[in-house]
Amino acid sequence: MPDRKPLISGNWKMNLNHFEATATLDKLRYLLSKDDYEAVDVSVHPPFTDIRTVQTFLESEKVPIALGAQNCHWEANGAYTGEVAPGMLFKLNVSYVIIGHSERREIFGEDDVIVARKVKSVFENGMTPILCCGETLEEREGEATRGKVTGQIHAGIEALKPEQVATMVLAYEPIWAIGTGRTASAEDAQQVCNWIRAKVKDMKGADAAKAVRIQYGGSVKAGNAAELMGQPDIDGALVGGAALDPEEFARIVQFRLS
Ligand code: PEP
Repeated sequence: MPDRKPLISGNWKMNLNHFEATATLDKLRYLLSKDDYEAVDVSVHPPFTDIRTVQTFLESEKVPIALGAQNCHWEANGAYTGEVAPGMLFKLNVSYVIIGHSERREIFGEDDVIVARKVKSVFENGMTPILCCGETLEEREGEATRGKVTGQIHAGIEALKPEQVATMVLAYEPIWAIGTGRTASAEDAQQVCNWIRAKVKDMKGADAAKAVRIQYGGSVKAGNAAELMGQPDIDGALVGGAALDPEEFARIVQFRLS
């Protein structure tokens, strides 16, 4: 069994201003222990306006939670009103950037070409992308899940070297399970994550496939985290709603204790 340390990531979406962010993290740090950080990598992904505050808090309090972002542009600078460059995030010690979340794809029209540019640019700027993929309910019912998900992965990693893919994070997030309270069964989630790993092996070789971490996301809660994390191809979770509650999020991070 390859040694892939689980990564539990809290995607705060457009929630928590910078005051609320500090209060949330202040609670979270008392709930997590050295043992938790040894067993699991943890990242939080606040809105852009919170990032400097969260960076200062985590560094000054020596909290070993990695700082993440929810998105970025692919260019280094220029006339892109309202956008944030990856280099700007790197300067704030951001480690992980979520790319191609279904809300970016569905609401903001990001297609596979844009997603691939962003993934590449995150790497070029010294950070790790968390590349999201997932099917709609209609696609699932039409048995199109495998084609949709592996197609998104293909587009997102095609231009990368196997050594880069080995260090990145992929997140399988069925769209029908995001924010709905419906979770994929552990068996279904495992099957799709296994298809994703097989696709990586096909494209980038066995070493990359063995090393790449694959998260599951979609209504992950303390009550279902352990079963999901117990699956052989699931190496962590991308958590939305439950990440806003420090107690619930801490229990997810501590899934091994349940
Ligand atoms: C997400 O947005 O990545 C997510 C998985 O949300 P939730 O946990 O709320 O379903």
